[in-house]
Amino acid sequence: MTDEPRDNQQPAEDNRESAASAIFAAIMREAAEKARPNDAQSVKRDLNEDESLDEGEGPTPAEPTADSDDALDPPPRAAAVEYQRIRRVNRQPWHRRQTARGTASGFFRTTFVVLLSTGLVATLLTFFTNPESINPAVVQGLELVEADLLASAGAVVTATPVATPKWNYRIGIISGHRGSDSGAICTDGRGRVLLQEVDINFSVATRVVANLKAENYTVDLLDESDPRIDNYQADALVSIHANTCQDFGELVTGYIIAKPEARPDHGEDAFLRECVALNYGALVPLQRSYNLTDNMTNYHVWRMIHPLTPGVILEMGYMLADQEILTTQHDLLAHAISNGIRCFLEASGAAQDAPSANRSAGYLVPVMVTPTPSRRY
Ligand SMILES: [Zn+2]
Repeated sequence: MTDEPRDNQQPAEDNRESAASAIFAAIMREAAEKARPNDAQSVKRDLNEDESLDEGEGPTPAEPTADSDDALDPPPRAAAVEYQRIRRVNRQPWHRRQTARGTASGFFRTTFVVLLSTGLVATLLTFFTNPESINPAVVQGLELVEADLLASAGAVVTATPVATPKWNYRIGIISGHRGSDSGAICTDGRGRVLLQEVDINFSVATRVVANLKAENYTVDLLDESDPRIDNYQADALVSIHANTCQDFGELVTGYIIAKPEARPDHGEDAFLRECVALNYGALVPLQRSYNLTDNMTNYHVWRMIHPLTPGVILEMGYMLADQEILTTQHDLLAHAISNGIRCFLEASGAAQDAPSANRSAGYLVPVMVTPTPSRRY
């Protein structure tokens, strides 16, 4: 913008400023013209002749200003020019208002039409969807859950308020060290390997997977550095290990279970940990040990899985002191771990006053207010 005197470049500004006085002048002139019918005729004629001259042009040099309209009896041609200018003045704000109103009402009209057509399409789809087209597996799954609920109605443990079909739960089982290394080893006096942790872990892990699949859960058997672990999303993840074969010179025995150190003490990971610990201890004749190591609480997997996937790592026992159980009781170990996972998935959302057994399912539920798992996918 420049400070030049008013010229053709800013007709709109000028018009807006002088609009009020111009309209007032026009009203006054109209009243005067009504009093003199002959003059009004000539004004109209002049106006028609002038229309072609003034079309699309800015203000003409001869154009009178609003102030000069004080003259009592302006000549007819000057009146015609003034009349036309007023029309120009009046046209512009009207256009502006019209545009603003048009945008607003257009928006509401579009929104209304979209809502109306969405509702219409939804209604039509509902009418024309055949109930038979729903996946029979889904229907069967829902029926199974309903039957489960009815069967466990008399049991101590109440099921999750909104039951999720078992196949809709995903469980990850890491077979410790598999695909990476042997893990802990036991050797004889001459250095020959007698026992490898990786073999014990795999034997138990495959049994756990089989147990849970037999219960209709969706289960992934994972290697120690499985590429699927990256951002792994599941309802539970259990990593299965056995502890060192080292001779400490004293009896070192028992099973250890740890959740990720960074996870809350009363969250889902803690409940999964207590479920597995309680059920493992109930079946396997070993004491629970709390010799947590950094390898467990800061386990490399905890940095890779999805932040909402509950996880625990289990050291099933020491390969020296607990060797007999670790080499001969794989079915029992797998059964105990499976029960712990089922406790976590099936008894979530229940508040327990004392350890209780789900009589129909055969697992124990630890004493704690159990968090309700959030669906992750
Ligand atoms: Zn290990």
